[in-house]
Amino acid sequence: MDCLFCKIINGEIPSAKVYEDEFVYCFKDIAPIAPVHYLIIPKQHICCANGIDETNSNFVAKVFEAAAKIAKAEGIESYRIINNCGEDAGQTVMHLHFHMLAGVKMGWGPESLGKTE
Ligand code: 5GP
Ligand code: ZN
Repeated sequence: MDCLFCKIINGEIPSAKVYEDEFVYCFKDIAPIAPVHYLIIPKQHICCANGIDETNSNFVAKVFEAAAKIAKAEGIESYRIINNCGEDAGQTVMHLHFHMLAGVKMGWGPESLGKTE
């Protein structure tokens, strides 16, 4: 399958690995938008949040387990996890991934979502 993140998982494309276990792989985002910007991805190819079902939702739990482990290991007390699903939401790589952002005070509310009209 011609998938960038599958290639990163199998080492075909290099990445700055942060954490790995049987279920997930975590690496530094190539274009960070925060001092800490990691991507946590399931090792099984799932296109997006809309591709989650009863056969693969365990990977999502594993992503959040990994985030908690990474946060503890790195002394990160506060972080945000984001998933973009679909083009309008900003998804550019069609392999389910969760952005883990930290190291900066983050805003919240409609103004942080950009233009809505
Ligand atoms: P999306 O926009 O789909 O939610 O997030 C995709 C993310 O993947 C972006 O933040 C982008 O910077 C990151 N990205 C794209 N290509 C690469 C790559 O080759 N290596 C790494 N480490 N990150 C990538
Ligand atoms: Zn993939």
